[in-house]
Amino acid sequence: MPTPSDFVTAAIRPDIRALTAYEVAHADGLIKLDAMENPYPLPAAVRAKLAAAVADVPVNRYPDGGASAVKAALRKAFAIPESFGIVLGNGSDELIQMLTVAVAAPGVTILAPEPSFVMYRMNAVYAGARFVGVPLAADFSLDASAMLEAIEREQPALVFLAYPNNPTGNLFAPADIEAILHAAPGLVVVDEAYHAFADASFLPALARFPNLVVLRTVSKIGMAGLRLGYAIAAPEWTTELNKIRQPYNLNALTQAAAPVLLSERALLGEQAARIKSERSRMHAALARLQGVEMFATHTNFVLARVPDAPRWFERLRQAGILVKNLHGWHPLLAGCLRITVGTPEENDSVLAALPTNR
Ligand code: PMP
Repeated sequence: MPTPSDFVTAAIRPDIRALTAYEVAHADGLIKLDAMENPYPLPAAVRAKLAAAVADVPVNRYPDGGASAVKAALRKAFAIPESFGIVLGNGSDELIQMLTVAVAAPGVTILAPEPSFVMYRMNAVYAGARFVGVPLAADFSLDASAMLEAIEREQPALVFLAYPNNPTGNLFAPADIEAILHAAPGLVVVDEAYHAFADASFLPALARFPNLVVLRTVSKIGMAGLRLGYAIAAPEWTTELNKIRQPYNLNALTQAAAPVLLSERALLGEQAARIKSERSRMHAALARLQGVEMFATHTNFVLARVPDAPRWFERLRQAGILVKNLHGWHPLLAGCLRITVGTPEENDSVLAALPTNR
């Protein structure tokens, strides 16, 4: 009798069988500084508002397929002009998948600098598109001439640029991004997952570039558990993307909760400001450690090149702290740890756990 494996081999694409599923690290009991979450719990009054909004949700019904309340709340919170369309995703992860599926076909190329957010490459593989990664310069800036040459040679249907970039933390030069927007024959996605910490955005550039989509998420500003991402672009783009969006991709509880939290403008602003000030403190404190090289960051994490990343990672773990060890991910990330900015107490724990002199 044939086994399930026999059928799997016959039915599942070999390139999918060769993959390993995205692994989310176990963090039970650990200080979680590996995934760029906001470390601050909601104040009791906001929790009460959230509970009331969620309590009223008729979960026996399908949610609003167009999620109009969420779109209205996003437009208000982030001053998104009515002239641009919005597509919502179950996290911006889902929007990356939708954007990829929208262009993928045999022979189609998707391009991004590397190292960058790994899901650009992964989604290209899932969708059967060709992925071309263009190495960043050693200081993590865009290698503009290499990018432009690759665009000329590969004619990518889709280019992903994370602004600021994950996992390096820096903002690429706006002039380099504009040159890419001019040169690209297809869509250029500027992924602003970390915009709340960056004081820079391509949202105002949407009117100037007909091939620009700005991608964002609420995950880094305290709502990672809601799973809500949004893409902003000319209506011509959002009409096409909506065709491949699953009908009810945004669940009813998220649709009830997100407008409540997005209306807490003061709270969101204050938390982002606290994270930015802790980011400066961590950056300076880590830079004082012997043998540590720090990189500029415009995100809610810091990137540190340390003398022995696996050992420092383990040392932090022994102290009950989970960070991301990037050593081995990409040659440019040799020796690097990515540490999400936590509460002042959590950040103090990181500093206390690291060797002060070596
Ligand atoms: N884009 C970038 C650059 C990211 O770093 C992340 C999260 N790590 C995402 C998109 C996905 O975020 P989410 O699916 O939580 O919206």
